[in-house]
Amino acid sequence: MDLIAGITRQLDALAAQSLTRRRRTADSPAAPRQVVDGRPMLAFCSNDYLGLAAHPKVVAALREGAELYGAGSGASHLVSGHSRAHALLEERLAAFEAPHLVDARALYFCTGYMANLAVLTALGSDPEAMIFSEALNHASLIDGARLARAGVTVYPHGDVAALEAKLAASTAPTNIVVTDSVFSMDGILSPLPALLALCERYGAWLVVDDAHGFGVLGANGRGALEHFGLRSPNLVYVGTLGKAAGVGGAFIAAHASVVELMIQRARPYIYTTAAPPALAHALLASLDIIEGEEGRQRRTQLAQSIALLDSELQLRRWQRPRSHTAIQPILIGANDEALQVAAHLHAQGLWVPAIRPPTVAPGTARLRVTLCASHTEQDVAQLAAALNTLEQKLAPEQLERNAA
Ligand code: PMP
Repeated sequence: MDLIAGITRQLDALAAQSLTRRRRTADSPAAPRQVVDGRPMLAFCSNDYLGLAAHPKVVAALREGAELYGAGSGASHLVSGHSRAHALLEERLAAFEAPHLVDARALYFCTGYMANLAVLTALGSDPEAMIFSEALNHASLIDGARLARAGVTVYPHGDVAALEAKLAASTAPTNIVVTDSVFSMDGILSPLPALLALCERYGAWLVVDDAHGFGVLGANGRGALEHFGLRSPNLVYVGTLGKAAGVGGAFIAAHASVVELMIQRARPYIYTTAAPPALAHALLASLDIIEGEEGRQRRTQLAQSIALLDSELQLRRWQRPRSHTAIQPILIGANDEALQVAAHLHAQGLWVPAIRPPTVAPGTARLRVTLCASHTEQDVAQLAAALNTLEQKLAPEQLERNAA
């Protein structure tokens, strides 16, 4: 019983800090209008930015993929699990990102988390190598750096000069700079052009995790590299396929030699069962949409919702980072207040998650609003009105009065 008591103490400590996380259970596809725990909700929390997760063409392709290839892959890629669907998807992704890379090749992974572990452990396998990790990087990059044999140094958020000083002082034979392109809890873009210029000057790799940019950023949805007009052999691009692409998995696109190294050396690629081929087949349908006119229209709708939320929100106390992406956080500060705001919204049928430490720094608990192409003007206006009202209703003096 001592073992259980130890766990209970840990859970109690989380609860005492308003840090207990709880899952809600969706009874319908990810979409703005969702049934959650049996109740209709207007959701502002999914990363299905283009509304493809329930798109009829994608769902039909998933069904077709299951007919063609069965439900599962049956083995890891290097044994017998690599299907024609995986191969076609990789060719398609390599061609999609080719304008930004040199001699591009792509590799499909089960998840973005695993792709990030793979890139950093394979590129950073030498104990003499050095990984330069941006302070606000996603947990999967942090864990990849921890798992790599290379040394790790963290540079301050967005601080290109600090990174340059570190690169200039480095004596490592291999230097790897790694950053999110869109910071997942702020929605802010990384200064990729300046980072790439440094990486080229110092002969370093630049690993870009474009989880929140792929499909959304750039005129053709190629992501952050297209948005900034970048092209370089130093780039290693990671795109996830469970967010804007609406299905699941992720890919690395880079110079063919980097991808070959992953296939030979990356343990998160080699030692896991290949993702169901039907997912890869469905992703080909997602790419058709992302690349085509419909994708362009959906990106335009998303941009309109982002602009509308910005103009409708009239907040004085709660801060907002200057985000121009689909991720629109509202900084509340205290964990319990963030939870309270989320609960009030929930009571009105609005689903916006409260994000607390350790996902964000202590004292910066926030609501993380994510917008998607299928939100209507009325949806966005309803959310903004609810937030404007709640900010006043939950002002400290008001809360004291409520507590009295
Ligand atoms: N990188 C970033 C920046 C992310 O936000 C996420 C997912 N939240 C991932 C990587 C992991 O991707 P996946 O969900 O496909 O594992």
